[in-house]
Amino acid sequence: FPMTSNELRAKFLEFFRSKGHTIVPSSPLVPADDPTLLFTNAGMVQFKDVFTGRDKRPYTRAASSQKCVRAGGKHNDLENVGYTARHHTFFEMLGNFSFGDYFKKDAIAYAWEFITSPNWLGIDRRRLLVTVYHTDDEAYAIWHRDIGLPAERIIRIGDNKGGPYASDNFWAMGDTGPCGPCTEIFYDHDPDGSKGIQGGPPGSADEDGDRWIEIWNVVFMQFDRAADGRLSPLPAPSVDTGMGLERISALMQGTHDNYQTDTFKALIGAVAALAGQRPYASASQKVIADHIRATSFLIADGVLPSNEGRGYVLRRIMRRAIRHGYKLGLTEPFFFKLVAPLSEVMGGAYPELRERQADIEKAIRAEEDGFAVTLDKGMRLLDEAIAKLGSGRTIPGEIVFKLYDTYGFPVDLTADIARERALSLDMDGYEREMAAQRERARAASTFKSMDTLAYEGAETCFIGYESLHAEARVLALYRDG
Ligand code: ATP
Ligand code: MG
Ligand code: MG
Ligand code: MG
Repeated sequence: FPMTSNELRAKFLEFFRSKGHTIVPSSPLVPADDPTLLFTNAGMVQFKDVFTGRDKRPYTRAASSQKCVRAGGKHNDLENVGYTARHHTFFEMLGNFSFGDYFKKDAIAYAWEFITSPNWLGIDRRRLLVTVYHTDDEAYAIWHRDIGLPAERIIRIGDNKGGPYASDNFWAMGDTGPCGPCTEIFYDHDPDGSKGIQGGPPGSADEDGDRWIEIWNVVFMQFDRAADGRLSPLPAPSVDTGMGLERISALMQGTHDNYQTDTFKALIGAVAALAGQRPYASASQKVIADHIRATSFLIADGVLPSNEGRGYVLRRIMRRAIRHGYKLGLTEPFFFKLVAPLSEVMGGAYPELRERQADIEKAIRAEEDGFAVTLDKGMRLLDEAIAKLGSGRTIPGEIVFKLYDTYGFPVDLTADIARERALSLDMDGYEREMAAQRERARAASTFKSMDTLAYEGAETCFIGYESLHAEARVLALYRDG
């Protein structure tokens, strides 16, 4: 029988315990006292200060399975969900860490032993290839000489120059903080081409596919990046690794597709049953299954949907899911009903899901009730506008703005619909409407105290920057086809 996700998580932790690592529980999705980061996006986040030496722990080796959300900031995979087999908004990152203890040689040896040893995962080594940072001759030599990987299976890769989804062998948590060169392990899901899975090897022009999937990133933490971009060395060379549980589960369960794993099968089954569809009948089922995880885990960690900051990212995720439900004919509140099946499959590993199940359901239900009326009206407005486009391919800025302002459609939600229909958005027109709106608001609020204004200004600025970047990227994607 193939290993379940729960068994794999346990096996990973057991392996690193046997190598002298202390098992540390996942930290919450909202990073403690870290305004530089929207959500925990990697296992190393809770150890950030340990790497820099500001915090000390009673151990120098640790391992964890960390809840992560990548739906904003430097690592943002929201636009990938439903389009690739390997990206989620919420996922679990298995990781091992060395704080000035072991470095490159042991880090690589542990990773290789865990995935290839018949005592552990026993993955066929002929289907694995690795990347190293282009100047990292030391890592190259470890793979080549110590591990015995042939030269054609070790690819040198430099800094990311090819856009957000290109390979990048210099890993950083965000614009500041610990960082360093890395080596990544890839698995070839279709060596003889018989499955027809698209995509080239890492570093090639068509690397953004699902054939060679990155399973594990081993980072050699060496620097701390300051706000001015300058790198200073960490007190001691360290190690930070991350392996996506969903990706390794897929591999061990004989598929390249994360959505075909045990956890997702259960969720997709629940979505399909609500929609009266067969499982996997539509991409919307996958998006909803992905988004119920992000939504429930974020609410369990204290985030609630709102119009700014973290709450707005959550709202955007929830409304996207609700809109995908609408597309499947689910016009009555349905999303909250998926919390129960989720807590069924993941509540053992994450008891907060069971403890807070009623609160989570209530918060989702409230968002669904609130959005239901305007969603329906907004969709009608949008459909009419699209019908009027004729052969035009661009949704006018006034419509995008009206959907946002009157009907509560975050711009990325409208963009998601546009993408499905091969349309783009007139973002310049939207920005003009937005500027006019801001002008009106400013004129109406001159009586407010300066303190309040300064505070509100700061908030909006931070979030505006965050979401504008995400939106600009989405739109660039559409523009460039
Ligand atoms: P990719 O290039 O596939 O987008 P990444 O290089 O951005 O992945 P890392 O930051 O190196 O990812 O994270 C470590 C590991 O976490 C990856 O090797 C992968 O197994 C997993 N992972 C990263 N992003 C996601 C995601 N959005 N959904 C599921 N797993 C992910
Ligand atoms: Mg990525
Ligand atoms: Mg990568
Ligand atoms: Mg990576």
